[in-house]
Amino acid sequence: MTITASIGFPRMGPRRELKRMVEQFWQGKIGEDELTSRAAELRKLRWQVQKDRGVEWIVANDFSFYDHVLDAACLFQAVPERFRALPSGSLQQYFAMARGTQDATALEMTKWFDTNYHYLVPELEPDQVFALGVNKPLNEYLEAKALGIETVPQLVGPITFLKLAKVVGGEVDPLSLLPNLIPAYEAWLASLHEAGAAWVQLDEPALVLDLTDAERQAFVDAYAALAKAARPSILVATYFGSPGDNLSTALELPVEGLHLDLVRAADVLQQVHALGWPKGRRLSLGVIDGRNVWRADLDAAFAHLEQGVHLAGAEHVMIAPSCSLLHVPWDVELETDMDPEIKSWLAFALQKLDEIALLKQALDEGRSAVGAQLEANRELLASRRASARLNREDVRARLDEVKTWKLDRQSPHAARKEKQAARFKLPLLPTTTIGSFPQTQAVRDARAKWRKGEWATDEYEAYLRSEIRRWIDIQEDIGLDVLVHGEFERTDMVEYFGEMLDGFVFTKHGWVQSYGSRCVKPPIIYGDVARPEPMTVRWSTYAQSLTEKPVKGMLTGPVTILQWSFVRDDIPRAETCRQIALAIRDEVLDLEAAGIGMIQIDEPALREGLPLRRADWEAYLGWAVECFRIASSGVRDETQIHTHMCYAEFNDIMPAIQAMDADVISIETSRSHMELLKAFEHFRYENDIGPGVYDIHSPRVPSVDEMVELLRKAASVIRPEQLWVNPDCGLKTRGEPETAAALRNMVDAAQRMRASL
Ligand code: GLN
Ligand code: ZN
Repeated sequence: MTITASIGFPRMGPRRELKRMVEQFWQGKIGEDELTSRAAELRKLRWQVQKDRGVEWIVANDFSFYDHVLDAACLFQAVPERFRALPSGSLQQYFAMARGTQDATALEMTKWFDTNYHYLVPELEPDQVFALGVNKPLNEYLEAKALGIETVPQLVGPITFLKLAKVVGGEVDPLSLLPNLIPAYEAWLASLHEAGAAWVQLDEPALVLDLTDAERQAFVDAYAALAKAARPSILVATYFGSPGDNLSTALELPVEGLHLDLVRAADVLQQVHALGWPKGRRLSLGVIDGRNVWRADLDAAFAHLEQGVHLAGAEHVMIAPSCSLLHVPWDVELETDMDPEIKSWLAFALQKLDEIALLKQALDEGRSAVGAQLEANRELLASRRASARLNREDVRARLDEVKTWKLDRQSPHAARKEKQAARFKLPLLPTTTIGSFPQTQAVRDARAKWRKGEWATDEYEAYLRSEIRRWIDIQEDIGLDVLVHGEFERTDMVEYFGEMLDGFVFTKHGWVQSYGSRCVKPPIIYGDVARPEPMTVRWSTYAQSLTEKPVKGMLTGPVTILQWSFVRDDIPRAETCRQIALAIRDEVLDLEAAGIGMIQIDEPALREGLPLRRADWEAYLGWAVECFRIASSGVRDETQIHTHMCYAEFNDIMPAIQAMDADVISIETSRSHMELLKAFEHFRYENDIGPGVYDIHSPRVPSVDEMVELLRKAASVIRPEQLWVNPDCGLKTRGEPETAAALRNMVDAAQRMRASL
């Protein structure tokens, strides 16, 4: 008999219960007792739901008040000095590490592999010691047991934990701390063994990354040491890709089970076959996509499972999602307003458990036992493939044509720069902003009234125009050189465009955790993307009609729209991205025709889309840059294309940034004190750059002096003729008074700097 597994389940609950309780606790509306008891209720619900759907391998400790990597750091008492004054192991200390306090900045946060989930980076000392602290996994294991549910405690494995950590205060490789960490893992395993746990799941997604020989050796050493302890059986879970050249290491580990992601690595079982499967081990087959929302092709999944049975024997095979279901929403049945046809194509976490249960039945009892369901699945997939809503001849024909275009601007940047200078007559170091202005309560109230039907569209739009007018006046008064309309009509930079493009569908409850209590509701791209009509032109032209200064049009780029959506799985991602790019191109050309002289195409997600393996970078960057060029290359030389990316590391991708050939790129730099401009200097980047001169994440108003200082630094690595002056990112989350004050200082700083050049 095969075993069904969910190797991790969404944390938030069907109605984001976790978000609510945690935020109420932060606001002091509920106390620790209530938080604790509501959390226990939610854990119970999560376990029960899985059990009811037939899951046998249900994990414990996939619940977290904030983040599972932070949980692991706390489990082993890796608490930085600045939090040690707080009661050890308390919720207060835990949330302080997650969110910071008045006197202690939070741990750094970054993306969990190539997902949109963010984890907290464990901060270690050069001689960090680890010791088993409050044993949350054990407590949750016992809690489930008391409910009559036998669970498998899950924890991030030692190598992945150290690979994700950083050592502060010394050039020390975190992996060198492995000898200190292993005893803590041993103690943890022993505690579970004693409590009667038969298995644990150690997540080691680091096994799908490019590893050095030393790192591979660290895996061997770590697990050789752990294997000796008195302990439960260990299943090592890899996901988000194929172990590839690390596969033989993975197979060598002296553990009792291995999980493989067959969605990202469809051919991994052939490689396992070639290397030989160690008999008697449990083979967990991640056949159901844990990263996307489509109903599975059950025949294809079944074929993988049969292969697995052949390798390991049915009694050792586990049927699982490709990775934890953390990355998909809870239940598609909550989407009562969704178009029924599209809804029938979707599977969220609960539906994925049903698929797993069905596959088990097919394997255990033979396919004929579930013949009708399998046939229904085939019909469903066929109807999706054939649906006229998916495939649009007009879109395909245009894309075929695009493939023959060169996608160059009319002239190289130097020539464009001259023409644009003649057109816009901007001073040296022109000042501008990144697009959004504060989305005040008033703006949100207005949108809510309109959505509820209390305000007619005319009324709402008149309000938006009045906000635009007010902010054009403010910008003129401050003396900015290039203005924006402020993005008041947008809740979210992807949702706004998705709602106006064909091929997208939106959910009401499709929340996925992004970090801590924050969730996102990614749009679902189900079909060919096209733009039925202009999306931003009337807002930009209205703003431009109010001023003599140039107003930048403001668009979200194709890669970012793709990256922050659930993407269809029946055509390559690159192809969907090209379709979005064509839609954005149409918008760019309409803006240009309407007299908008500068157009910004934001690509904040371009870098995060980089594949986990270097070998795949070139292909990705190739199509990502191509898509930006599809969107941007159609304009005249006199039209100035801007782009914006709100992150720091460019070293690895400078050729791609240059190939995008935006006339101006604005980036985040203030927090790194212009350090990252070095990449641009080193690469001899030709086009214009606006390095952010202040951090928009804080309400603090930066002084003129400090911004002048940053501009000096910038001007020492980049020619002043290339430099623009702007904040790090959009100002949507800021308050109005601080925004105006900061921008005034920024304009002063630019003027002072100009005078000194
Ligand atoms: N134009 C967007 C804004 O100003 C850019 C946001 C972003 O880079 N994430 O809000
Ligand atoms: Zn940004």
